[in-house]
Amino acid sequence: MEDAKNLLPNELRSFMVSLEQPSYRGDQIFSWIHKHLVCSFDEMTNLPLTLRQRLKEIAYITRLNVRSRNEGKKGTVKYLLETYDKNAIEAVRMEYQYGITACLSTQIGCKMACSFCASGVGGFVRNLSAGEIVDEALRIQEDVTAFGANVGNIVLMGTGEPLDNYEPSIKALRILNAKSGLGISFRRMTVSTCGLVPGILRLAEEEIPVTLSISLHAPTDDVRETLMPINRRYSIVQLMDAAAYYRERTGRRVTFEYALIRDINDSDRHACQLADLLREQSGHVNLIPLNPIDEKDYMRPTTIRINSFSKILQEASIPVTVRRNLGLDVNAACGQLRRRYCR
Ligand code: SF4
Repeated sequence: MEDAKNLLPNELRSFMVSLEQPSYRGDQIFSWIHKHLVCSFDEMTNLPLTLRQRLKEIAYITRLNVRSRNEGKKGTVKYLLETYDKNAIEAVRMEYQYGITACLSTQIGCKMACSFCASGVGGFVRNLSAGEIVDEALRIQEDVTAFGANVGNIVLMGTGEPLDNYEPSIKALRILNAKSGLGISFRRMTVSTCGLVPGILRLAEEEIPVTLSISLHAPTDDVRETLMPINRRYSIVQLMDAAAYYRERTGRRVTFEYALIRDINDSDRHACQLADLLREQSGHVNLIPLNPIDEKDYMRPTTIRINSFSKILQEASIPVTVRRNLGLDVNAACGQLRRRYCR
């Protein structure tokens, strides 16, 4: 059975041709699914009845079940979504001055086992399909349609490593970009990675100018290896070379995420090492004071420490933002809501 939500407009056109239908039927179906948010062929009233019947026999349209919406302060809503095989995934809706952002998961669980992350605790279950990733955004769009808004930004920063589920993640972005659907500009999309160097190099060749966000979290290999096992495969030097290549190929600035963890990576010395590392990168640093999670002893730094770290970067002319901790009051630390559901 073919999942129609998994297909790009040109693939839906080819699918229609394979059924001896005119290719424009593919565009009609894409628009029903991605603009009108329809999830059954029966509702596609401009298709012939015989075609609708045939489609019901050979295809389906993924729809995630919204199990809960957890509203927090400052316009943050965390969605707990259920897949066809009863797995739970999370997506987050965030309202900024410049529009609504959907933060999407790309895998159920994660293999990367970053030591500060809730998603690694439950292990890896499976990859999400492009249709499932897209549907996370469509469930959010369905809600915001009610108040006349649109999802305008996509960040692949939920559970999972997008570059470890490369084709479905990038295909989902292409589907979300399609004009006859949500039509979100690639420049308003962000792909976050823990540092899969081959994936970064491959993404640089895709000719989609998305923002690359690298979860760095440490300025030296020895500290990073204690936090992120992936650093044993790809060192910081390799990662910096890949980031520079991405910037050269796409013309897009790279952002570096840095979770500040008390007494682990938050000293003035770490800040100076980070400034040295990023001096040539002309990237932007997002400092994220850690969301504590139940299973780990990691602590959030004091405000004085956060400010001191940030000031050192600013004095070194590294653009830096301390990220608003949007998720903290809605259990939005990576993977927390999902684990609560799975217990
Ligand atoms: S931080 Fe990201 S890559 Fe690391 S374990 Fe969590 S979800 Fe996976």
